[in-house]
Amino acid sequence: MYSCPACGNSDVANQARCKCGADLTLLQCLDAVASAWFNRALSALADDRPGRALEWLSACCAARPTDAEARLVQAKVWARLGRWREASDALDRAEEVGVSSDDLQAVRDVVREAEEKHAKKAAKPQRRRKEKKRGKSGKKSRRKRK
Ligand SMILES: [Zn+2]
Repeated sequence: MYSCPACGNSDVANQARCKCGADLTLLQCLDAVASAWFNRALSALADDRPGRALEWLSACCAARPTDAEARLVQAKVWARLGRWREASDALDRAEEVGVSSDDLQAVRDVVREAEEKHAKKAAKPQRRRKEKKRGKSGKKSRRKRK
């Protein structure tokens, strides 16, 4: 989940000291804290408090930027709140830190399905998107200044 700040060695999981001699105990503490924050995010989600969950997930991702699982959960929560751009961004970040492609695709599908469902709900049954855009420009005239 983390690498040695002195030499960049990424094979340091559960080690108090790196091969290069660097002390990793503080990193181990930080890792434990990030895990605790991740768990608080999950319980916030279980309590149906997605905003609070995002707070814990953000803290977790800040403490442990390589946490792909936290990024994936973050993407799902953003999607649940209808924030598609943020969801997509979280997915991109998950991809950057090397989440498995199966996991990534699964969450991408969840986000896309939620977005499509939302779009269908928002659009009126017989109208297509293009027509909706024309309706928006009609609004402009109403906003004219006096
Ligand atoms: Zn090292």
